[in-house]
Amino acid sequence: MTETPYDVAVIGGGPAGYAAAIAAAQAGMRAACVERRETLGGTCLNVGCIPSKTLLHWSARYRETVEGAAEYGITAGKVALDVAATMAGKDRTVLQLASGVAHLFAKHKVERIPGRARLAGRGVVAVTGKDDRTREIRARNIVVATGSEPAALPGVAIDERRIVSSTGALALPRVPETMAVIGGGYIGLELGSVWSRFGAKVTVIEYLDRLAAGMDSELADRMRRALARQGIAFRLATRVTGAEPREDGVALALAPAAGDRAGDANDAENENPARETLTAEIVLVAVGRRPRTEGLGIEDAGVALDERGYIMVDERYRTTAEGIYAIGDVIPGPMLAHKATAEARALADILAGGHGSVNYGAIPAVVYTEPEAASAGQTEDALKAAGTPYRKGTVPLAGNSRAKTIGRTAGFVKILSEKRSDRLLGVHILAPDAGALIAEAALALEFGASAEDIARTCHAHPTLNESIMEAASLAAFGKTLHA
Ligand code: FAD
Repeated sequence: MTETPYDVAVIGGGPAGYAAAIAAAQAGMRAACVERRETLGGTCLNVGCIPSKTLLHWSARYRETVEGAAEYGITAGKVALDVAATMAGKDRTVLQLASGVAHLFAKHKVERIPGRARLAGRGVVAVTGKDDRTREIRARNIVVATGSEPAALPGVAIDERRIVSSTGALALPRVPETMAVIGGGYIGLELGSVWSRFGAKVTVIEYLDRLAAGMDSELADRMRRALARQGIAFRLATRVTGAEPREDGVALALAPAAGDRAGDANDAENENPARETLTAEIVLVAVGRRPRTEGLGIEDAGVALDERGYIMVDERYRTTAEGIYAIGDVIPGPMLAHKATAEARALADILAGGHGSVNYGAIPAVVYTEPEAASAGQTEDALKAAGTPYRKGTVPLAGNSRAKTIGRTAGFVKILSEKRSDRLLGVHILAPDAGALIAEAALALEFGASAEDIARTCHAHPTLNESIMEAASLAAFGKTLHA
């Protein structure tokens, strides 16, 4: 038991937890962070954002090199791929960034406590180390930032060898001939893209009749078409009812989603004329993620969960237990690293006696495929469903001179604004580097900008951002120069 309690003890060293600990320390608080992994950075840094973006980047460079650009006089001879070296490069990137977080802890005097934490009474966290010894630490405020883990699919047992989660798909030892991806969300699409670029024949199976649920449906549809042109096959409105590892690969039992009865996961005996089998060397299960609260002693601590297993919090991130807060993937909201970090900063401000808050209406979401798909604000589907009168400006990337110069004209920008006031409501982009382009939209939403504000802002030429200006001009004035 430490003599003086910490001001803040954070459980979890991911983008929510490590950021909360550092921000608290910067605000003058004595902070500790308990992490059970060897390295800091959580899912994002170890088995999420960073390794996936590293593989996306280098698989794109590989593809580009293989394909060359004959129309601009560039062709390549034999291009070799050494998957072991690719993976080693990815691991190096991860380790460098993880040690960067450890360095920040040292710099800001955040105490790093290795081990598995459990809530053990008011203001007490019990930490069990690798040696199975448990010590207790005291803190005035406890922050639960334990993140999330891959959701399971009944009938499809993950072995991380032939049936893998995203973690296994980030570390395959060689390029499979065929890969089936169960789930057309961003994780499935990104990792499917990686292995497709490296040469696997990839099929994405999605229960819904669209990809990237929650994103603007026009954006998702255009993204699907772009990925299909790259050779990725899609089986929409299809459910996987079971998986059987065989000598020639994993046999997946498929059935149409239509006519599905909720909760009927083991209906293998049902007559279904359209039932079929798809065999793949590797199966990636990417059907979503669930909050991680097991083994935390949540119930004994009086921390309530909602019906989906997320920790319930109020607008100040207070759980139902006095002195215990929660942020990041373990609470409701988009499961994204920047959302987690934004909550961490807000909570540190609150704990320091300030007024931290997060604008949940301006959190960008990005799918790092080629082209990238990025959104901020409301989707057109949501505006229609709510009956909100809106104006829309859409411009194809084909009219953008920068897109033309780099030979990547597939994509578009869509701006949605409130009909009467012209207030910006949503921006949806399919374009190279849309993940960077969307920052302009997030900033505009944060500042409460109108479409006209964006349209009248001078944008550098030639840039892809000019398409945002042109789409805004269409929404605001009904006209623009290049469309
Ligand atoms: P986590 O990052 O999950 O961190 C929680 C930490 O808590 C973990 O390190 C865990 O070991 C630790 N922990 C849990 N329980 C205990 C305990 N009892 N004691 C001690 N420690 C504990 N998001 C993006 O914004 N952009 C992306 O491009 C992106 N790509 C992704 C790609 C993949 C393949 C995956 C899987 C996720 C991706 N994400 C991305 C999501 C992102 O990783 C998460 O939203 C983010 O990591 C959530 O941060 P967190 O701190 O809440 O939780």
